[in-house]
Amino acid sequence: MSGILHLVGTPIGNLEDITFRAIRTLKEADIILCEDTRVTKKLVMHYEIDTPLKSYHEHNKEQVTDYIIDLLLEGNNIALVSDAGLPLISDPGYELVVVAREQGIKVETVPGANAALTALMTSGVSSYSFLFDGFLPRKDNEKKDRLVNLMGLPHTVIIYESPFRVKHTLETIQKIDGNRKVAIARELTKKFEQVETDTVSHIITRLEKDITLKGEFVIVIEGSNGENDVNWWSELSIEDHVNHYVKEGLRNKDAIKQVAVDRDMKKNEVYQIYHVD
Ligand code: SAM
Repeated sequence: MSGILHLVGTPIGNLEDITFRAIRTLKEADIILCEDTRVTKKLVMHYEIDTPLKSYHEHNKEQVTDYIIDLLLEGNNIALVSDAGLPLISDPGYELVVVAREQGIKVETVPGANAALTALMTSGVSSYSFLFDGFLPRKDNEKKDRLVNLMGLPHTVIIYESPFRVKHTLETIQKIDGNRKVAIARELTKKFEQVETDTVSHIITRLEKDITLKGEFVIVIEGSNGENDVNWWSELSIEDHVNHYVKEGLRNKDAIKQVAVDRDMKKNEVYQIYHVD
């Protein structure tokens, strides 16, 4: 009889966010496959789990798949975890599940914490219908194209972002629609957890002031409602466009900056037209 491949959810920060079943499964498994043994060692030591750890990550997953499948076929029970949250969700595991299922090996998930859903639930952005897109492409134009497509859909969009790119990603969202409601969720379940929801233009004015660009981030973007379309301002004069943002609470200077971004104009040009008008 072959063993079972257990996909086990682990915490995304707070070590208490793990189920009794997850701990039992990790204790009873013959092997725990993990991305980084140093990270998982902290978890297993905390819960006094002495199951041997083996590496399974982006860079060795193809080489070790046959070996893992053989172990399962020989009757070993294997638990797969990632550094944080759910395996397979922007983390390794999908290919292994496909091969295991093809071989008739039983696959079971032990559910647990997940950064995308934790951010969505806390954000105050609609949770009725949503789309999770993991990490965006890194190249500027590919990222922008992807966001234009995603932001045209009537669904909340959830993305993961690194602290080094979060500002650039918010600025790209702003270029597409500065009025769009977004939530930025950092350090979820940890001591410095912060979840802020506002228009993307407002959020950008707060970066590095009361929103520190350190830690792990999830961005939640409100879906298109047909009115928040990319060029919603096209019928407005430049003056009305600036006034719109002022009414929304931006200072004149920031409103002019946002209009320049929306219209792909120089700040000075907008400033002059606004003040002449
Ligand atoms: N498998 C994980 C899950 O289920 O959430 C996600 C792994 S992915 C490689 C790592 C990304 O998840 C981080 O770059 C960040 O965007 C997000 N993330 C993970 N933990 C987080 C936390 N505590 N707070 C905010 N974002 C987090």
